[in-house]
Amino acid sequence: MFKKILIANRGEIALRIQRACQELGVKAVMVYSEADREAKYVKLAEEAVCIGPAPSPLSYLNMPAIISAAEVTDAEAIHPGYGFLSENADFAERVEKSGFEFIGPSPESIRIMGDKVSAKQAMIKAGVPCVPGSEGALPDDPVQIRRIARAVGYPVIIKAAGGGGGRGMRVVHTEAALINAVQTTKSEAAAAFGNPSVYLEKFLQNPRHIEIQVLADKHRNAVYLGERDCSMQRRHQKVIEEAPAPDIPRRLIERIGERCVAACKKIGYRGAGTFEFLYENGEFYFIEMNTRVQVEHPVTEWITGIDIVRTQILVAAGEKLPFTQRQIQLRGHAIECRINAEDAYKFTPSPGRVTMWHPPGGPGVRVDSHVYTNYYVPPNYDSMIGKIITHGDTREQALARMRTALAETVVEGIQTNIPLHREMLVDAKFVAGGTSIHYLEEWLEQHKR
Ligand code: ADP
Repeated sequence: MFKKILIANRGEIALRIQRACQELGVKAVMVYSEADREAKYVKLAEEAVCIGPAPSPLSYLNMPAIISAAEVTDAEAIHPGYGFLSENADFAERVEKSGFEFIGPSPESIRIMGDKVSAKQAMIKAGVPCVPGSEGALPDDPVQIRRIARAVGYPVIIKAAGGGGGRGMRVVHTEAALINAVQTTKSEAAAAFGNPSVYLEKFLQNPRHIEIQVLADKHRNAVYLGERDCSMQRRHQKVIEEAPAPDIPRRLIERIGERCVAACKKIGYRGAGTFEFLYENGEFYFIEMNTRVQVEHPVTEWITGIDIVRTQILVAAGEKLPFTQRQIQLRGHAIECRINAEDAYKFTPSPGRVTMWHPPGGPGVRVDSHVYTNYYVPPNYDSMIGKIITHGDTREQALARMRTALAETVVEGIQTNIPLHREMLVDAKFVAGGTSIHYLEEWLEQHKR
């Protein structure tokens, strides 16, 4: 096992990984930007290194600063968390070349999966079903683009090969709008992701977002930890997640889970990963793979009893997965609400000083957050400030516990999206389960204020 790990991230996930290290008896080195000097995990840290000013390109995305922080503190491994450099193959490569273990898959796996076009090609080869669409990146010739779109059938969605975080996507309903949309998405993709390549997929009308969590070690063992339903989204960003997914026959989940495990073995995948699918009319269609821990990992941890972050560290250290597929049993139901510092209905960011923070508690309640009373939410980063997760023997019980948890939570000084969560948790359709990826946006449209 490692003696010391550097955690190259911030916010709730930095605290989450720090907790896992503590439990394993591994020393954790925290890094922070000038804006995060007052963070809880920095105060708790035995060792912490300032890696630069507030803007993330100068700190959390600053590879030389992070690698030299690992050098001066004698860390053996680097955990990238999610976001920032977690899916950057060049970073993983530089970490390895500098003699550290990267807690995640190989740079090659990250590179293949980071490009959605090559990821799809790899999945087709591995026998994972994908959304029908262009074979690879779109050509430049408008005549050919039109031919491809016609063959797939409208509506279609144009997606950036290098896209992520819900950005770099455009839905096209008619041929008249096609070429313009392709060109705009291309120039946006070039500016945002440094890669102008785009591809085309059939735009599914009413799918659900269902994803499969996998864990793999360096000895070609791989398992899947059931599924998560992340259909409650706004602007392709997840807002509420749950596990298991309501009303999907177990044999379908098992079949797709086994395909994901086979794909992991085929590509020599290691570490934690998520295969994301759209699910419609009983069929799964792969959309992308995330080669890192996900924000929503706690719902899976709760229903399986497996600590995903701990396992990431164990397998990075070369250990075998400590469980087999047969030992993985699902118990009960878990739901996660992401708490964002933003206006609940206008979605404008609301950074600033949290004058009062009172998190919920009680049976079946977990709070992953670095916030405390008097904490200052910096304006420089993502607006998510924590997550509330509840568990119950049944979905009804998990929902009831979430209602109580949300009612107990007090956050003053900044605005949060908790009022929206409270409304969702009593919304008849959400409570019934199985809503599509468009449901939340349609609801917001109908309840405009
Ligand atoms: P990102 O990497 O930016 O998260 P994804 O490929 O995972 O992008 O897609 C994010 C979300 O966009 C999906 O959860 C879904 O809501 C929507 N989406 C993506 N592809 C399609 C599609 N072919 N049809 C309908 N919706 C889609």
